[in-house]
Amino acid sequence: MLLKELREQVVFYGNQMIKSQLTMNTGGNISARDRKSGLIAIKPTSKHYELLKPEDITVIDIDGNIIEGGYKPSSEWRMHAAIYKKYPRVCGIVHCHSIYATAMAVADEEIPLINHELCMYCSEPVRVMPFAMPGTDQLGDSALEGMAVGNNVALLKNHGTVAMGASLWHAFDAACALEQAANAYFIAKQMGKVHVLPEEGRNKLRTYDPLMGEDTGGEGEIRAV
Ligand SMILES: [Zn+2]
Repeated sequence: MLLKELREQVVFYGNQMIKSQLTMNTGGNISARDRKSGLIAIKPTSKHYELLKPEDITVIDIDGNIIEGGYKPSSEWRMHAAIYKKYPRVCGIVHCHSIYATAMAVADEEIPLINHELCMYCSEPVRVMPFAMPGTDQLGDSALEGMAVGNNVALLKNHGTVAMGASLWHAFDAACALEQAANAYFIAKQMGKVHVLPEEGRNKLRTYDPLMGEDTGGEGEIRAV
């Protein structure tokens, strides 16, 4: 079986997405890229995360051709491929419809850098990109434009979120950080006080790797952009 380890990661983090309430039912999608071959292990379309086994994960090339697997790739494979093409060091992508972050995307409200988790993945406030139809190249363009300010995450208007990282671990961590920040920001706004992190702290956090010294093969930097 091709990309056995990455397929196992897609299954594991897919289940984590459900458990962490980053998505529901079959919504959202995740993928991991193999650094050596460039092949991508991606969630198959319209399948329940909890029922997926590693062999169910679809392996595609950067053009969307199925290399191994019995199911069609996620309908958002074009967005994944566009991100991998632009960022050679990115090897993990999470796209989800988590509630508070999606609410910000609906309200067209960018998320300021209010906590340390988000600052590890963003250089600028998280932007809301104009609406694009799901499954299109335009959605990929929106995601890329949103992250082009030096962020690992972006908000897709009236849709959800996208997060990328040096590994699927990082991408999932970034998606969690975004949802947590959106939730906290929503509450802080009700309280009438929102303070962003001081610039010095933001700059230090942006180059900090949350794996904290774990061996990432020298490729673990979260910045990956
Ligand atoms: Zn979606």
